[in-house]
Amino acid sequence: MSSSRQAFKLVVRNACLLTAAPGFEPFVGHIAVGQDGRIASVGPGEPPPEADSDRFLDAEGKIVAPGFVSAHSHLFQSPLRGLGTDQTLYGWLNAIKQLSEHATAEDIYWFCLHGSVDFLRNGITTGYDFTYSGELGGGQRSIGIGEAVGSSQVDQEPYEEAQIRAKLDAGLRFIKSISIVPLGTEQEIEERVERILQYAGRYSDSPLFLKMAISGWVQRASGIEGAFREVRIMKRHGLMNQAHFLESPERVPEQQAKFSWYRDAGALGPDFVFGHFIHTTPQIVHETAESGACMCWQPSANGRIGSGTADIPALRKAGIKIGIGLDDQSCSDLSDPFQNLRMGLYSIRSLYKDATVLSVRDVLHFHTLGGADILGVASKVGSLEVGKYADFLVVDPRCPDTGPVHDPIATYVLACSLRNLQQVYVGGNLVAEGSRLVGRDEDKIRLEVDTRVARLKAARDGSVATLDLTRAQ
Ligand SMILES: [Zn+2]
Repeated sequence: MSSSRQAFKLVVRNACLLTAAPGFEPFVGHIAVGQDGRIASVGPGEPPPEADSDRFLDAEGKIVAPGFVSAHSHLFQSPLRGLGTDQTLYGWLNAIKQLSEHATAEDIYWFCLHGSVDFLRNGITTGYDFTYSGELGGGQRSIGIGEAVGSSQVDQEPYEEAQIRAKLDAGLRFIKSISIVPLGTEQEIEERVERILQYAGRYSDSPLFLKMAISGWVQRASGIEGAFREVRIMKRHGLMNQAHFLESPERVPEQQAKFSWYRDAGALGPDFVFGHFIHTTPQIVHETAESGACMCWQPSANGRIGSGTADIPALRKAGIKIGIGLDDQSCSDLSDPFQNLRMGLYSIRSLYKDATVLSVRDVLHFHTLGGADILGVASKVGSLEVGKYADFLVVDPRCPDTGPVHDPIATYVLACSLRNLQQVYVGGNLVAEGSRLVGRDEDKIRLEVDTRVARLKAARDGSVATLDLTRAQ
C-alpha cells in the first residue's frame, strides 16, 4: 500500500443509496468508513481511487440506508410481550407492572440487553431509552392518570447502571433518559438525578452513548410542581426532556389541562419533546409550534393499546418537528421499523381518506433523520452523510423478490420488510446478518431471560390475591 492511499475500515461499493439526507435522491454509489467508525466519503459511483481497505463490500445494487432511529423506546420491557392484550394504556401497564415490579437490577440488565439486541437485529441502530428506575415498583397500587406510584425506597442507581451496561454490551447507540420519579422530597429527587448523572458520566466516552435526557412525568402528576421540578433539572444540567403526554384516551380534558403546567413552568422549547401527543387541541398545537417543541409518534403502540391516532398532518402544518419511535417492545410486541412506518402511513391516510396527505418519504424521514433531529443528535446519526456514524442497513428488495424496483424509496418503505434486511452495521462493524446477531451468544441471552421471567411470574402468581386490580384506571 503506498503512503498516499487511505486505509479505511470498510468500503461499500455498488450500493443503491438512500442517504435520508435533506432532499436526498437515490443513487448508485459508495460509502467509505474511517477507522473511527464515521463516514469519510459517500457519493455516486466508485470510491475515491486513494481508498484502500482490508474490507470491501460489494452491495450488488442492494439498498443501503441509514439504521432506523427509534426516538422513543423502553428497552427493558422487551421480554414482556403479549400481555394485557385487550387493555388500553393503564390496564396494559398494570399487567406488565405485576411482573416488572419484582425485577432486580440484574434482571433489568438482561431484559434491556434482550431489547437492545432485538433492535439491532431489526435494523434499529439508535434508540432513545426511557430506562427503568423502579417506577413500576412499590407494592400493590395500580397505575393511573394523576397517580405517582413507585417506591422512593427503590435504589434507582443499580437499575440505571445495569441499563447503560446492557446497551453498551449490545452495541446499540442510545440516548439515556432518566425518569424523574416524583417520590420523596424535592431534595431527594434532585440528589438522585445528580447521582445518576455522575455515574452515567463515567460511560459517556463511548461513541455509543450519545447523550443524557430526562423523562417527564407530568402526564401522571397531580400538580404543577412536577413541571417546575423538571424545568429546574433541565436547566441545571442542560438536558432535554421527552415527556409522555396526551397518550391515553381516558379523561382527556384532565390531561389537556396539564399542558398549561408545562407551559407555565417554562418547559416548552426545542429541548422538549412530547411523546405520543395524540389528544391535542388546536390551541395546544399552536402553542407547541410557537415554542419550537417537538413530538414523537409511536404508530404501532398507539394502535395496539387503542390510544388513538396523532394528527400528524396538522402537527406538521403547524411546523412541529416529528420523529417516530417503536415504543416498548411489550406494547409494539414486534420491533419492526418497516411495519411501524407503514402503520403510521396507513393510519393517517385512512383517517384523512387521502393518499396525498403523507408520503413514503415523510415517514422514512420521521424514522431516520427526523427522529435524530428531535433528539438533538442529527449531527451524529439519522442519515448517511460525511462525519456521521456509519450505521447502515443492507436491504435486498429482490430477496425475497418484491419485483422490479421502479422507485427505490417507495419499494423500501412500502414493499420491504425484515425478511429483506440482510445486514446491519454500526460504526462500520457488522452487528447482525439475516436476523442473526454477529459475535453474540443469543442462546445465553434467551436462557437468562426465560429463567428470570419464570421467577417473576412465580412471584406475581404468589402475590396475585393481594393485588387490587379494580383500581386500574
Ligand atoms: Zn413510551
